[in-house]
Amino acid sequence: MKEVCVIGAGIVGASVAYHLSRLPNVRVTIVDAGYPGAGVTEAGTGWVTARGTADEGYRNLRLHGMEEHLRLAELFPSTPWLTVGGTLLTEDADGDFDGTVAESREHGMPVEVLSAAQVNAQLEPNVVFERPDLRVAHFTSEFSVIGSLLTRILFESATESGAIGHIGSRVIGLGQLSGGRHRVTLDDGTWIDADAVVNAAGASADQVAGLYGIPMPMRPQPGIGVLVKVNGQPLGRMITVEGLAIKPEIDGVIRLRSLLGWKSDVGAASRDSSFTGGMERNEFVDHVVGQFERVLPGSAPIRSVVTRVGIRPFPADGLPRVGEVAAVPGYYDAVMHSGGVLAPLIGRLLAYEIATGEQSELLAAYRPGRFLETESSLTAGDAAGTTL
Ligand SMILES: Cc1cc2nc3c(=O)[nH]c(=O)nc-3n(C[C@H](O)[C@H](O)[C@H](O)COP(=O)(O)OP(=O)(O)OC[C@H]3O[C@@H](n4cnc5c(N)ncnc54)[C@H](O)[C@@H]3O)c2cc1C
Repeated sequence: MKEVCVIGAGIVGASVAYHLSRLPNVRVTIVDAGYPGAGVTEAGTGWVTARGTADEGYRNLRLHGMEEHLRLAELFPSTPWLTVGGTLLTEDADGDFDGTVAESREHGMPVEVLSAAQVNAQLEPNVVFERPDLRVAHFTSEFSVIGSLLTRILFESATESGAIGHIGSRVIGLGQLSGGRHRVTLDDGTWIDADAVVNAAGASADQVAGLYGIPMPMRPQPGIGVLVKVNGQPLGRMITVEGLAIKPEIDGVIRLRSLLGWKSDVGAASRDSSFTGGMERNEFVDHVVGQFERVLPGSAPIRSVVTRVGIRPFPADGLPRVGEVAAVPGYYDAVMHSGGVLAPLIGRLLAYEIATGEQSELLAAYRPGRFLETESSLTAGDAAGTTL
């Protein structure tokens, strides 16, 4: 029996734990300082796309990530976290609309260009567009997920399959025991011994890696989601209009992701490029909600408005960091932005790798070793671990 401790019950850790829990001869423990899905996953938009990257390998990984979401969905009797039916982008939302459409087609992502009038007639009767002949791209293979809901479902499924969840306890120490096992020390005075440890601590992953003296350069970026609650289901799929992504969730909740400014010092080490407008928080919220009401005026009254800020866990080069750190056998990283797109795929591949030692080619470019040229210079003392 292989014992694995997953640190972090966000969408990434929950996916790793879920897939591990389905494998024979693996016993999983998942630890989270908060509760499942309450980290940056709750702030994430949950847009599942392979667009937005010039890196062919990374785009390919994301395309696999999209397919994996649909495969995962087939394993559940209902999929309340998933909204299929494509996503929409209006001409005025993209400075290079024609380029985006052409590039998507070139990269094997199907897109049809409709007029606003056609969108109203065929897809979204309630959306108010600036004019009926405005062009709207329909990316038919894209979809969206509610990351925090998927996380909770994966976490619950993992525990139903025998995983143990330790919720509300923070990992404060990591150390190696004789025989190569690991000791994970928690802030409640207890500890967990395991054969393997997975660091899926999101934006705090660098601190967790630091407990083993492993460098993890990060480029944290804050982002904000605004949630409004409306009557009924006025929107069928995510739409991006000028400066604003509007995404339907469940129970009348609509998530708004603005590309406009909001003044923030969160994660100020590296500002989100979208946080440049310099608005105060409530001013920003009024602006975003006002814009939403103009696009979907029939959806009022809004009963509540909630904001959620999260720090995007970007490794320093912007790409996922996944796999074992050679200097500390049995210690694995699972840290990435675009966890909404990639968590199901990376969770499955990493779980299989931990259980069997077999590595997927798909992850070859994302190994921690690319940051660790000095990996071999980690001293025995570093790798022996520390306690905060
Ligand atoms: C505004 C915004 C929009 C986004 N939009 C998208 C999008 O459209 N598509 C997409 O794919 N991605 C998007 N993202 C990114 C996506 O949300 C993240 O990549 C993903 O949620 C990362 O999940 P995670 O599990 O790694 O991190 P988290 O959800 O943060 O989970 C990490 C967990 O680790 C726990 N933890 C941390 N330290 C410790 C410790 N020492 N001990 C115990 N537990 C610990 C935390 O409590 C937390 O629950 C967006 C992010 C933001 C902020």
